[in-house]
Amino acid sequence: MTATTPAASSGGPALPQERRVRTAIPGPKSQELAARKQAAVADGVGNVLPVYVRRAGGGVVEDVDGNSLIDFGSGIAVTSVGNSAEAVVRRSVAQLADFTHTCFMVTPYEGYVAVAEELAELTPGDHAKKSALFNSGAEAVENAVKIARAYTRRQAVVVFDHGYHGRTNLTMALTAKNMPYKNGFGPFAPEVYRVPVAYGYRWPTGPEHCGEEAAAQALDQIAKQVGAENVAAVVIEPVLGEGGFIEPAKGFLPRIAEFARENGIVFVADEIQSGFCRTGQWFACEDEGIVPDLITTAKGIAGGLPLAAVTGRAEIMDAAHAGGLGGTYGGNPVACAAALGAIETMRELDLNARARRIEEIMKERLGKLAERHPVIGDVRGRGAMIAIELVRPGTKDPDPQLTAALATACHQAGLLILTCGTYGNVVRFLPPLVIGEDLLNEGLDVLENALAELA
Ligand code: PMP
Repeated sequence: MTATTPAASSGGPALPQERRVRTAIPGPKSQELAARKQAAVADGVGNVLPVYVRRAGGGVVEDVDGNSLIDFGSGIAVTSVGNSAEAVVRRSVAQLADFTHTCFMVTPYEGYVAVAEELAELTPGDHAKKSALFNSGAEAVENAVKIARAYTRRQAVVVFDHGYHGRTNLTMALTAKNMPYKNGFGPFAPEVYRVPVAYGYRWPTGPEHCGEEAAAQALDQIAKQVGAENVAAVVIEPVLGEGGFIEPAKGFLPRIAEFARENGIVFVADEIQSGFCRTGQWFACEDEGIVPDLITTAKGIAGGLPLAAVTGRAEIMDAAHAGGLGGTYGGNPVACAAALGAIETMRELDLNARARRIEEIMKERLGKLAERHPVIGDVRGRGAMIAIELVRPGTKDPDPQLTAALATACHQAGLLILTCGTYGNVVRFLPPLVIGEDLLNEGLDVLENALAELA
């Protein structure tokens, strides 16, 4: 029997929760649209998988040719509550009917304030907190840096190897990887310093002492090359996303946070990818009891509508003068309504528990797969943010070719997966947290078969 999702809350027929491959991937209708895209859309905007979407919900994405793909991507960690989640649609539609925009900086509205109140409650720490809302993750990170600079009256920003923070000018500077994010787009913003991160799998002396050693190296570099007294902010992803789903080895984050505290530096946790139940906790930094001074959120916050936030200690957030933060659309009322619907869904369905269950299923199966296939060098991640790192057997040499081939084979078989990693050799799994277990297991079957054929 095929399960369906009531996510057809848009009024259409329920979307069958099944994998269905009817045509070549991409099919003829998608190919027609791809030809139109080629003529009308800039080449710099690429597609991972050019199947054109008709509907999406629960754990599937249905394309214009009638294929239905199991979704292990969630639009890059966005649709954690599913696509078209009931509460997101209900609240957004009601808001659309009332008003679409006034600009919060001109005539404000309750939704924005309610989102800020939710953020104060959900983010770590019981100190007084305030928020400012924006449109994209990159914009949130830029504003976190502005706020930290205004508060500390210092300029330097410290970021980490393998970090990703966006594609605007400042966030390109904060991002580690050249291709495709930075190449040819310089000059980049000044006063950005990059230091080592505790990448256990690739740490020269092994994972055991990695946290401690990497922190010592990072802090030494900051002291010698920048001077702690010049640093406004350290910005770090508690689980690094685009860089390869790297969980900094235990002890690393607490040591960096402690250093920041001792030196009057604003500790910014970029939870844009890892936040909002993705790792089985509201925020990934809770795992080691970190209480960031500022936290940036986006993606999962609003069930697919564009919304982002900086949340943090009230006295830091208030350091920027009135009019210094904002933007025409930041905290758009429809996006705020969607966020309130997404948060309602996360609470009601206990999506943290669902994320932990997804981890259990995936880690168990991927662990066994790794025993059979030495090309899987590492299985890691938390909650529904899980990855495998592919290497040449018997070595740790990255195998980006196999990674790309595996992604393509999965796509052809009706499983939407994404890759990442500084070396392009990590397959990442980011299913919607509402995906059914049958579909999750079927997706893993597809992956196993594809790997068995290729490896
Ligand atoms: N920070 C992190 C950790 C991210 O994963 C991303 C997006 N992948 C960003 C910032 C940038 O967000 P956006 O694409 O919404 O600008």
